[in-house]
Amino acid sequence: MAARALYTDQMRPETLAVHAGRSIDPATGAVTPPIHLSTTFERALDGSFPSGFAYTREANPNRSSFEACVNALEGGEVTVAYSSGSAATMSILQGLTPGDHVIAPEEIYFGTRHLMETGFGRWGLQSSFVDMTDLGAVLAAIRPNTRLIWVETPSNPVLKIVDIAALAEMAHAAGAICVCDNTWAPLIQRPFELGVDLSMHSATKYLGGHCDIMIGVVIARKNDAFAESLRLWQKMGGAIPSPFECWLGLRGMQTLPWRMRAHCENASVVARALAGYPGVEQVHYPGLASHPGHAIAKKQMSAFGGMLSIQVRGDAGDAMAMTNRLQLITRATSLGGAHTLIEHRKSIEGAASKTPENLLRISVGLEHPDDIIEDLMQALR
Ligand SMILES: *Cc1c(COP(=O)(O)O)cnc(C)c1O
Repeated sequence: MAARALYTDQMRPETLAVHAGRSIDPATGAVTPPIHLSTTFERALDGSFPSGFAYTREANPNRSSFEACVNALEGGEVTVAYSSGSAATMSILQGLTPGDHVIAPEEIYFGTRHLMETGFGRWGLQSSFVDMTDLGAVLAAIRPNTRLIWVETPSNPVLKIVDIAALAEMAHAAGAICVCDNTWAPLIQRPFELGVDLSMHSATKYLGGHCDIMIGVVIARKNDAFAESLRLWQKMGGAIPSPFECWLGLRGMQTLPWRMRAHCENASVVARALAGYPGVEQVHYPGLASHPGHAIAKKQMSAFGGMLSIQVRGDAGDAMAMTNRLQLITRATSLGGAHTLIEHRKSIEGAASKTPENLLRISVGLEHPDDIIEDLMQALR
C-alpha cells in the first residue's frame, strides 16, 4: 500500500493528533479511513501478506492507526490497544511472574486494586498499597521481589499528587519498572520525560473523549521484552478492541489537545468559584495554590486537568441531595466526556472505601463554565 503519510514525528501535539496514524486511503482516496471489519486478509501468490495483515486478532488496520496516533502523542516506541483500560492493566500484570511484588498507591483506581489483590493475588502476585506522597513509605515497602511500582496521579477521587520522577527513580534503583496510569492527565503530564517505563490510559475517558467507547492503551517507552509481553497478551490472549472502537478512538484523538485545554480551563474556573462557597467544605483541585500537591503538580504537569472533587457540608445524604437538585450536570460515573458528570464515589466504591462520605467527584465537561458554576451553586444553596 503506497499510502501517503501526512505528518512527521517532529510536529506538534495538535498536528500529530489530527494526522498521526492516518493516511489517504489508496483504494478510494478517502480522507477519513474506512472501517475494516474483515477478520481475515488475502495471502499473495508467494504466501506472504503484502498489507501486513492476516487475521484481525493479531492486527487490524484501524487498531494499527489508533495505536500509531496514541504512540506519537505519548512519545513511546510501542503502543498496544486493548478492549478496555482494565484489560490494559491486566496485560501489564500478566507480564509479571507469580511471586512478584507490586507497590501501588493507597488511593489507586479501585478496579486496579481489585485486580491486583483479588484477581492476581490468586495467581501469587503480592501487592502493597502505600501513601505515595510519603516517599519514605514507598522505600520501606520495597522488597527483594518488587518488580513494579504503579503510579496514578492525580489520584481518584481526592486528586492527591505524587512525584512521578522520584518514584520512577526509586523503582529503577530497586530493579523494578515504573508504570503510570495517565488516564486523568493526557498530554498535560508526560510520563516518559519523567523516567516512567510504561504509561497506560483508560482511553474510554479523555482519549476517546465522548463517553461512547470502551478502549485501553499501554505505551512502552522502549520496545523491549516487556513490550513484547504486552503484545502477546493482546494478540494471543485476544484482549482486543473492535475495529469500530478503534475508529472512534482515532476520531476522538483528533481533538484531544484542544479538548484538554478546554477541560483544564473550565475545571480551574469551577474550582476557584467553589472554593469558599457556602455549603462547600473543601475543594480538591491541584491547580489551587492551597492544594497540598500544588508544587509537585506545577513541576510535572503543564495544566491541572479537568477533574476535581468537592466535600459538601454534611453527610452522604446531604451530598446525594445536592446532586439531585442539579439541572444541567448529570449524575453518572466515568469522566473525560463533553458532558459534566458528578458522582458520589463512596457509594460506588463500596463499604471498604476510605473516600469521605460527603465527597462528590466532578468531571468538568466542555459546556460554558458559567453554566456549570450556576448549576452547582443553585444546587448548593
Ligand atoms: C476508568 C479508569 C480505569 C479503567 O478503565 P476502563 O476503560 O473502565 O476499563 C483505570 N484507571 C483509571 C484512572 C480510570 O479512571
